[in-house]
Amino acid sequence: MSTAIVVGGGIGGLATAVGLARRGWSVEVFERAAEIAEVGSGISLWSNALRALDAIGVGGEVRAQAVEDASAGIRDPRGRWLARTDVATLRARYGAPVVIHRAALLEILRSALPDDAVRPGISVTAAGADGSVVHSAGESSADLVVGADGLRSVVRQAVCGEVAARYAGYTAWRAVVELPGKLTEFGETWGRGARFGIAPLADGRVYCFAVYNAPEHSAGTFAEVRARFAGWHHPIPELLAAADPDTVLHNDIYDIPALPSFVAGRIALIGDAAHAMTPNLGQGGCQALEDAVVLARLAAEPGGLSRYDRERRPRTRMIAARSARIGTIGQLSAAPLVTLRDTALRLTPASVPLRALGEILDWTC
Ligand SMILES: Cc1cc2nc3c(=O)[nH]c(=O)nc-3n(C[C@H](O)[C@H](O)[C@H](O)COP(=O)(O)OP(=O)(O)OC[C@H]3O[C@@H](n4cnc5c(N)ncnc54)[C@H](O)[C@@H]3O)c2cc1C
Repeated sequence: MSTAIVVGGGIGGLATAVGLARRGWSVEVFERAAEIAEVGSGISLWSNALRALDAIGVGGEVRAQAVEDASAGIRDPRGRWLARTDVATLRARYGAPVVIHRAALLEILRSALPDDAVRPGISVTAAGADGSVVHSAGESSADLVVGADGLRSVVRQAVCGEVAARYAGYTAWRAVVELPGKLTEFGETWGRGARFGIAPLADGRVYCFAVYNAPEHSAGTFAEVRARFAGWHHPIPELLAAADPDTVLHNDIYDIPALPSFVAGRIALIGDAAHAMTPNLGQGGCQALEDAVVLARLAAEPGGLSRYDRERRPRTRMIAARSARIGTIGQLSAAPLVTLRDTALRLTPASVPLRALGEILDWTC
């Protein structure tokens, strides 16, 4: 039986482990956190990701615990629509995206693995192209080592040396909030150098995020976030007022430059370790899920890792570049440019962004 060590028990690592285990591999997942859990955030999964989850046998369960992300479009801070999403066409052409709590997604993936496959509390310090892994509990080796250890991957060093993460110039706060009334309209709001997003969750709570330009490591406090969005349209101030500052998540936003390769010897990189991207398209996790399926399909074939690299690198590079461009436009802060952007958004027919999404969403395994 072929053996695999997956470094990192995030979305990508767990999905790869499920895909490999279903194909008869013996898999161990080393996760440095003491337990696999993620609080305070939802995640959008587009139709490409749902197809990937179907391919590893958990799509039905994810849909059962998710809710359709009927994002209505983009507004300005006063609540006037800049762009409306053609939800009916999106749904008919590609399948609707869904939102799920991250903790629920991780639990579905973990439960699809044998109980002893995940080993929490083990931190990997080095990996070798020969399949060796050095970690806090000793040393191990396997036929395949999957580097699924995120933005600041240790495994990546064995594939392409030190790669510095690039700060995008903006910072993000995420919260899961309970509001007394039921919200019916979801979507994003774009202001000057700041954006806000609202999405439903299956249990009636709301997942929201606030993004704004700031120097690296200087986002301020959650009280400052509330003050910054205080004048924005309903229900943004109410959502921020209801959010519990102890459970909100804060991240400066980074990506990594395009790597020369995702593979070296017995190592394959997936997810953020391979192509950490800005979250503007909601595709980082979706691409990790696509990686997982493609890697599980190809890993046992002769030359399979090179094919994995050829299949995944150009696609993820294209999506990361697009995501960065949307971030640049969304975070514009000079008043004349914002006016120009908002006018362009108002004048663009809803079919244009939908067509552009096509080559991302119509992915099949
Ligand atoms: C604000 C924000 C919003 C986002 N929204 C979306 C969205 O709506 N849709 C979407 O698809 N994507 C979204 N993303 C992107 C998405 O979160 C990531 O792309 C995704 O989590 C990547 O999964 P991963 O498994 O590759 O890495 P991670 O989720 O980073 O998991 C890596 C795991 O490896 C572990 N680890 C790290 N180092 C080691 C080590 N040395 N030894 C052992 N374990 C280690 C970590 O503890 C972690 O559990 C968003 C990102 C941000 C920041």
